[in-house]
Parts: sequence; structure tokens; C-alpha cells
Amino acid sequence: MTQALHVLCVSTPVGALGSGLGGGVELTLTNLGQELAGRGHRVTVIAPQESVLPGLELVQVAGRPQPIAQNQGRSDPISLTADGVLPRMWTEVRQHLTPQTVILNFAYDWLPFYLTPFLSRPVAHLVSMGSLQENMDRAIAEVLAAYPGSVAVHSRAQAATFSFGDQLQVIGNGFDLAGYQFRAAAEPALAWVGRIAPEKGLEDAVAAAQAAGRPLRVMGKLQDAQYWAWVQATFPTASVDYLGFLPTTELQEQLGRCAALLQTPHWVEAFGNVAVEALACGVPVIAYDRGGPAEIVRHGETGWLVPPGDGLGLVAAIHKLSQIDRHHCRQQAEAEFSRAAFGNRVETWLRELQATCG
Ligand code: UDP
Repeated sequence: MTQALHVLCVSTPVGALGSGLGGGVELTLTNLGQELAGRGHRVTVIAPQESVLPGLELVQVAGRPQPIAQNQGRSDPISLTADGVLPRMWTEVRQHLTPQTVILNFAYDWLPFYLTPFLSRPVAHLVSMGSLQENMDRAIAEVLAAYPGSVAVHSRAQAATFSFGDQLQVIGNGFDLAGYQFRAAAEPALAWVGRIAPEKGLEDAVAAAQAAGRPLRVMGKLQDAQYWAWVQATFPTASVDYLGFLPTTELQEQLGRCAALLQTPHWVEAFGNVAVEALACGVPVIAYDRGGPAEIVRHGETGWLVPPGDGLGLVAAIHKLSQIDRHHCRQQAEAEFSRAAFGNRVETWLRELQATCG
């Protein structure tokens, strides 16, 4: 009989689980933690204070949130604040190590990579961003050299942003599809779902929806208020309805009513959870042909892929939505993005790392 693991998940230090500030990492960690616990593994989650995570052993750590990596320049130095939550979370890690522990790091931060050789148990790093900073690239490369196979990403496109992409495990993602209801009928409105921040490119979706004569419903964490004010001022007559940051049950309810999800990021989206969440509700996805979404959407079958920045292409795709069968969208989510299949891949990865540690 294979022995159960103790999986010590370390969350992102940019915000509490449930706040939305952590973006897709929050849902990925929640799904994975629940899946691994359901398989009989012991799961402990270390996360910033005020985190919400039903049903799992949660250790909350106080301290100032880490600044988000998207706002930093490629050559910027590493920043750590005296009362930051990031170093405190890794101090806490040492209190929870057992002979069965595999540490699973969800943070895109330099410190966990630097600390890896100093820890007595193996660390699996699940990186949720493409290459953004030289310091990070170097830290990841050093860990890979010392511990081959210990770093994973979500998509091939994300891996390709790193010079050492061929050494990264590509493990996709998985969702609790029972929590997303299929809806065969849609209203004319389009959806845009994500953190409201410049790299997510909301303005392109607003422009396309307006040009196509459709209302746009926006759901997600208001991360950059200045940017949001700029989008509103740039499109004063657009029909844009901001529904707020919604829990998954409400998000899928609102998303499922929409004719399509527009995904218009200005960066290489590492994966793009919201594309799969839309498909799970039967909602076609119109996305820029780049990054994770380009690996998720089946062009002409579960949505349309459009060259990045091609506004007219987005509008043309909106006009072709009737060609997409919403059943195919749900079917693709079930075939490719189940939580169980993701759990299998991650469990295999963690066991391999544990075996190398002895
Ligand atoms: N999300 C949510 N409520 C909302 C809007 C978004 O819970 O109202 C979640 C969504 O489920 C997804 C995450 O926010 O898991 C966004 O992740 P994604 O991978 O799409 O982008 P990221 O924010 O990581 O760049």
C-alpha cells in the first residue's frame, strides 16, 4: 500500500485566500487541496491572515502582503519588507515538517526558491506566471539545476516564456466541475471575468462589446482602481455592468447566462482559469491567440481565437457565436479539465519528488 503524503501547501503572500488578490492561484490551491485531502493525504495550508478555506487544515499568518510581481520591472531587485507576510509564512513552514511532508509552493516569489536547499523536505514549486523578472528566472533555474523536475507550470505557452522551459513540468489545471451548472440558453450579454488590472486588458473587451452592440458584464476583483476609472472614462457610453468579485457559486450563475466570455489579456496569460470556468457552464470563449487560453479554446468548436490586439477580429468572432454549440464547451471542460485528472498528475509529481528525497 502506498503511504499517504503530508502536503504542506504554501499560498501566495499577495493576499488572503478568498480575497481575489491572489488571482487564479486561490482557486487552484483550493481545488487541489480538496482533491488531495479527498484521496486520503493530509493537507495543511499556510496562508495570509483572514484567509477562508473550508474543510482544510489552515494556518493563518499575519504580516504585510507582498507587492504583486506584475507591477515590477524585469530588472528590479528583490523586495522584502520587515513585517512582510512572505518570510513569516516560510518560518511557519519549518514548524510543520514531518517525515512524510512534501512542500507545495504556490508563490511566484524569490524567497521560496532561495530557501529550497535549506529545507529538510522536498519542495514542489507550482509557478503561476510566465517569466516576468530576471531575479526570479535565475532563482528558478538554480532550483531546477539542483532538483530536476521540482518546478511545474500550467501551460506549454507559459513554459516557453522561460529560457529553461523544456525542464518544466506542464501540469495543466483542474476544476470541481460539479460546481458549475451547464446552461444551454444564453442572454445577448457578454462576460469579462478577472482581476481588474492593466495586464488583463479589459479595455479591449469593452471596445469590442460596444462595437458589436452587446452589453458587457464584468466580474472580478477591483485590483487597480485608477485603471478601472480610466477604462470607464475612455468608454463613457459603453454598456458595462460591474457585478463585483463573486464567490464561485454566484460567478458561475452569472457567467452561465452570458453568450460568451471575452478574454483579452495584454500579457502571456499562464493559464486563465476563467476560460475553463466559462466552458464548464457551456459558455464559448473568445480569446486572444496567445498563452494559456490559446491552448484551452478549440477554435471554431468551443470558441474563437483572435490575433492579440485585433479589435475587429473580436467583433467578427462575436458575430459568429451562433456557430458554437454550447454542449461542446461543457464536454471539453469535462474531458480535459477535471479536478480528479489534475489531482492524478500532481500526486504523481509529488510522489516522484518524495522518492528522490528518500
Ligand atoms: N474569480 C472569482 N470571482 C470573480 C471573478 C474571478 O472568484 O468574480 C476568480 C476565478 O474563479 C479565477 C480567478 O478569479 O480562479 C482569476 O484567475 P485567472 O487564472 O483567470 O487569472 P489571474 O487572476 O490568475 O491572472
